Amino acid sequence: MPDCLFCLILDGSVPSKKVYEDEDVYAFEDINPQAPVHVLVIPRKHIPTFNDMTQEDAPLAAKMFLAAQKIAREKGLDKTGYRLNGNCLESAGQSVFHIHFHLLGGRNFSWPPG
Ligand code: 5GP
Ligand code: ZN
Repeated sequence: MPDCLFCLILDGSVPSKKVYEDEDVYAFEDINPQAPVHVLVIPRKHIPTFNDMTQEDAPLAAKMFLAAQKIAREKGLDKTGYRLNGNCLESAGQSVFHIHFHLLGGRNFSWPPG
């Protein structure tokens, strides 16, 4: 049994609200949404942090971006704007060590982030 929460979501032992899936990427609603749309986009492959990505993961990185783009379009965020956020390590806010993008939309966001 994996000890990674997102691997448990991927194998179905922890339930999630699916938004998108393909052979390499899965996306689901964040349990604690920070915006009207808050979707997590994850690879099926367990990669703990962005630091651990290698050249062989380049196609997977592209697929994550394109999945986020597709979801954003489906939710109408391609017109209104959205934020695609990735946290690396605790100081940046990473709490689950399986890489993910936060796709956030449906409200205005400030910059710089806190
Ligand atoms: P991080 O803090 O690592 O960048 O993002 C982890 C995200 O996972 C957080 O936004 C948190 O709300 C979300 N999360 C934590 N546990 C669960 C869960 O069991 N289900 C879902 N859907 N999201 C979760
Ligand atoms: Zn994992």
